[in-house]
Amino acid sequence: MTFPRNLLYSRLSSLNKYSRNVNTSAVRLQNVQQVTAKKRICIVGAGPAGFYAAQYLLKQLSDCTVDIVEKLPVPFGLVRFGVAPDHPEVKNVINTFTKTAENPRLRFFGNVSLGQDVSLQELRQRYHAVLLTYGADQDRELQLQNEEQKHVISARKFVAWYNGLPGAEQLQPDLSGRDVTIVGQGNVAMDVARMLLSPIDTLKATDTTEYALEALARSQVKRVHLVGRRGPLQAAFTIKELREMLKLPNVTTNWRADDFAGIAEQVEQLQRPRRRLTELMLKSLSEQSKRTATAVDGKQFLPIFLRAPKAISAKEIEFAVTQLQENAAVATDTTECLPADLILRSIGYKSSCADPAINFDPQRGHVRHDQGRVLKEGEGSSVEPGLYVAGWLGTGPTGVILTTMNGAFAVAKTICDDITANAFDTASTKPGFEVANQRIVTWDGWLRIDQHECEAGKAKGKLREKIVDVEQMLRIAGV
Ligand SMILES: Cc1cc2nc3c(=O)[nH]c(=O)nc-3n(C[C@H](O)[C@H](O)[C@H](O)COP(=O)(O)OP(=O)(O)OC[C@H]3O[C@@H](n4cnc5c(N)ncnc54)[C@H](O)[C@@H]3O)c2cc1C
Repeated sequence: MTFPRNLLYSRLSSLNKYSRNVNTSAVRLQNVQQVTAKKRICIVGAGPAGFYAAQYLLKQLSDCTVDIVEKLPVPFGLVRFGVAPDHPEVKNVINTFTKTAENPRLRFFGNVSLGQDVSLQELRQRYHAVLLTYGADQDRELQLQNEEQKHVISARKFVAWYNGLPGAEQLQPDLSGRDVTIVGQGNVAMDVARMLLSPIDTLKATDTTEYALEALARSQVKRVHLVGRRGPLQAAFTIKELREMLKLPNVTTNWRADDFAGIAEQVEQLQRPRRRLTELMLKSLSEQSKRTATAVDGKQFLPIFLRAPKAISAKEIEFAVTQLQENAAVATDTTECLPADLILRSIGYKSSCADPAINFDPQRGHVRHDQGRVLKEGEGSSVEPGLYVAGWLGTGPTGVILTTMNGAFAVAKTICDDITANAFDTASTKPGFEVANQRIVTWDGWLRIDQHECEAGKAKGKLREKIVDVEQMLRIAGV
């Protein structure tokens, strides 16, 4: 997964100045049944794809209402539970989502899970159109023996742990050893490496959960190996993330000179972003040879290329040395073992099938669709009328928030076009969402949780202290 943030963040931040001044009258209105509205649209998942699609639909269709159904009591998906706590500027997109949620034609139903509390069939009966945007919350596995051992965990779970996803506090990663080996070199891997190597004082002001801060303060981790199957020219991390690593105080970055054989000669032919990234790696490598010994108490960041994971044991991970053949990594017979008190697997996310009625491709880990229109199971190119998919659930887990935004806008436009073309029924009356005996968190309820978290954070000198217990969230939300 790649997320080149360079342009994205400055653009999104300037678009969205964070303001806590919530239009309470608009919020109150959201619970009023919108009997006059003609088209009822349900969006499943309150992450970026869901909110951006809602924004587009509400703007383009003046006679529609949008209900967002979200599994958790709280909104924003990976913006809250994925984006690194030391990148608060990225989370400014929450301002735009909040504005969208204040629209009286939008209702938020938190704590309602598709497949558990409501079925796809029910939603399709109750709405003219349903848009699935429930993301990718599983991780890809290495498929190696011993992968289930306690010292092997997914980067996804580690990220969820420091970001306070309900249930993730149970993870308790063992940070008592010196060496962590991360398999994978994308920006999620870089986020995790940075969290492990950053001085604790810089993390204290962020919204990192308190239990994670305590564990990171006790951490004995001194060396983080970041291992990839391919070479420096294929590195999946981006320049911003590398710059941040190179600037971390009391952390030395050590490259392997052998990994860069023949790389300098190719720099001139590279496209600009790849060239700049490669130049930065080469510059850092050349500075390293001039450096005197690493400070004894210092930490080390160790990027290693051309190694494919082969076997896991108690304190080590064995890698096959690879060679590049037409950009693909091919394992050789030579192997190398790296020390690993903790192994973090960071080779990508995948979606799950939340409801058996969804035409889901388990191999690729996403919903089968044609430009956002969900395909009928086993019927070639014919589509399910009024059923759509957007975000990582449709594209697979690639791309940044900006990419997700563009994709969600495109699918929302397809919905509008299909309405104009009468591609599905919008004439009949639809009742919208109703669930008996369900503790539903409304937008007002979320605002109460938000206020509580911000106040708790302020008392500790942090941006916010996230609540991780669902029951406590529901209590504060007043349900
Ligand atoms: C660790 C990490 C760090 C990242 N950092 C950055 C970054 O710094 N900058 C950047 O631009 N991009 C970043 N990204 C990428 C960005 O987060 C994604 O592009 C974006 O979140 C995808 O949006 P989505 O709406 O498809 O999915 P999600 O954000 O995952 O939202 C899906 C929502 O659906 C809900 N849901 C799940 N199952 C159900 C169900 N059964 N019923 C109802 N609701 C359900 C989830 O709770 C969630 O709220 C990062 C991604 C990761 C994994």
